[in-house]
Amino acid sequence: MIRLLFNVAPDLYAQYRAPILDALRRRDLPAEAGLPGDIAPEAVDYIIHATGGPVTDFGVFTRARAVLSLWAGVEKIVGNRTLTQPLCRMVESGLRQGMVEWVVAHTLRAHLGTDRYVREKPVTWTQHVPPLATDRSVTVLGLGELGSAAATTLAGLGFRVTGWARHAREIAGVRCLAGADRLPEALATAEILVAILPETPDTINLLDAKRLALLPPGSCILNAGRGSLIDDTALIAALDRGQVANATLDVFRTEPLPADHPFWSHPGVTISPHVAAATRVGTAAEAIADNIARSQSGAPLLHVVDRTQSY
Ligand code: NAP
Repeated sequence: MIRLLFNVAPDLYAQYRAPILDALRRRDLPAEAGLPGDIAPEAVDYIIHATGGPVTDFGVFTRARAVLSLWAGVEKIVGNRTLTQPLCRMVESGLRQGMVEWVVAHTLRAHLGTDRYVREKPVTWTQHVPPLATDRSVTVLGLGELGSAAATTLAGLGFRVTGWARHAREIAGVRCLAGADRLPEALATAEILVAILPETPDTINLLDAKRLALLPPGSCILNAGRGSLIDDTALIAALDRGQVANATLDVFRTEPLPADHPFWSHPGVTISPHVAAATRVGTAAEAIADNIARSQSGAPLLHVVDRTQSY
């Protein structure tokens, strides 16, 4: 019998407990689950984790084989020094599809200038014919599970896509650049800039005043990675001088975004409340069960976080 500890808020326990146990049962892996206090720490085999769970000392789970995050972003747990077990990020098809849909929607919105017609009332009969996607350059920062899927889909729509990551890679239809010294090149062509990077010591304030100044005048920014990637004050300044025409932000340094934050009232900012890509219970339960099944059979866990890199 596998014992799962859910280090999550009670509402998430209610959502995920049965789907994960069912998914394990279908793999002939009977399991029981509980919240902290329900299972003796030394009897726990796996920890299902999401920010908001009460456990902060993972040292007591001496038998635990892995901590499996329900979320793709792990910046709040990755630096926990008591965590000696492998930490696995969430990678699942629903999350990926959601991110692709959000990025495509807001890229097309920026590309077509749709806001002009949605916001102008009454509509004036003024025609603004946008270029075709084949004449629009989009840069995607971050080519991981989510960024590479978004970049591939944008390329499939015909956009001229540049992607940027730490390591060199090849993605069909995408000009891939790697490393800090290629970032200026990636920014210089970014009429639409899509950020899907994790928060790490290297990515905090990556888009500061100096880097924002490298964007083509009138560019659009979409941030679905983490709020800390962009210097808020520098972004407001770039918006005010027209360097950046508009920014669609899904993630913020403080969430919920405080009511007095200037983003709320800035006409160039569209806010979505961290909804770009949600973990979907059904597909996530399958992904977690797959990873536990691998571990139980002696196969290496998937999507293990490299703690030296914080993602
Ligand atoms: P991932 O597979 O780990 O990919 C991360 C990507 O970022 C990789 O391509 C990596 O480069 C790149 N990267 C990391 N540090 C870098 C640096 N210093 N310089 C250049 N590139 C760097 O992560 P993912 O699953 O795609 O998720 C990405 C992030 O999206 C998550 O960490 C989370 O913050 C965010 N997210 C947001 C939402 C939302 O609803 N808004 C939902 C889910 C996730 P390499 O490929 O070279 O390693």
